Amino acid sequence: MTPAIEVRNLRFSYHDQKTALDGVSFSVAEGECVALVGPNGAGKSTLLQHLNGLLPEKFGPDPAVAIFGRPVSVESLEETHRKVGFLFQDSDDQLFCPTVYEDVAFGPQQFGGDGREISRIVRESLAKVGLEGFADRIPHHLSAGEKQRVCLAGILACEPSILVLDEPTSDLDPRSKRGLVALLKSLPVTKVIASHDLELVVQLCPRTILLDGGRVVADGATMRLLADEELMLRHGLEKPHSLQHLHPHGGG
Ligand code: ADP
Repeated sequence: MTPAIEVRNLRFSYHDQKTALDGVSFSVAEGECVALVGPNGAGKSTLLQHLNGLLPEKFGPDPAVAIFGRPVSVESLEETHRKVGFLFQDSDDQLFCPTVYEDVAFGPQQFGGDGREISRIVRESLAKVGLEGFADRIPHHLSAGEKQRVCLAGILACEPSILVLDEPTSDLDPRSKRGLVALLKSLPVTKVIASHDLELVVQLCPRTILLDGGRVVADGATMRLLADEELMLRHGLEKPHSLQHLHPHGGG
């Protein structure tokens, strides 16, 4: 079956800087939920941005990323944006309208749709993220966690097949985090989630890709990778508390 995401030998450098992605390859099957972990500067954000063509200036003749079999290129950008919903690490990068309603309606409006239909989608999307009654609020007057949920509502409003989330819990309090985990679990779409929150990874993602120095250094079952204390420490991470009793090679 065609994978939802296929990345083949992806290399990328910002301008003349050192290599940010150094031959990254992996594929994600439809419906999988995959975590992307690694230390600061590993290349996680850069990789995520390639998944929906946010770094278009480097499209070569042979695109390294394909979404449901379709190479990500200048020609397929609109289709890619539609299929891949991207949650930025910083909500302020994503919110630019005077009201929450307009921010959430922005995507569906780009893809067509009449006013009544859009109004229904906006209401439903806000309800999904627990922000009923927020439609008339000013995005920049909301708390960081609320802003992040408005961004997520805006993405859900476009009904993407793939969700790409960059540090989705960085601004959330524990209750909002539990809400997000429950919401993400209830969405049957393919997900790729970059996070330093390894407890979240344990709860949500059966598979983890560990990136360091722009390379995939491990790709496998979350329980096995994250329980490997030596591997975690070597790459600037920590074995999560919930896995303290587990030993990666059995015997625990
Ligand atoms: P991570 O998300 O894992 O922290 P990034 O993808 O942000 O890693 O960064 C990977 C590498 O690319 C780092 O060396 C970082 O300094 C560099 N980098 C990231 N964004 C930019 C940018 N806009 N311009 C130049 N270099 C960048």
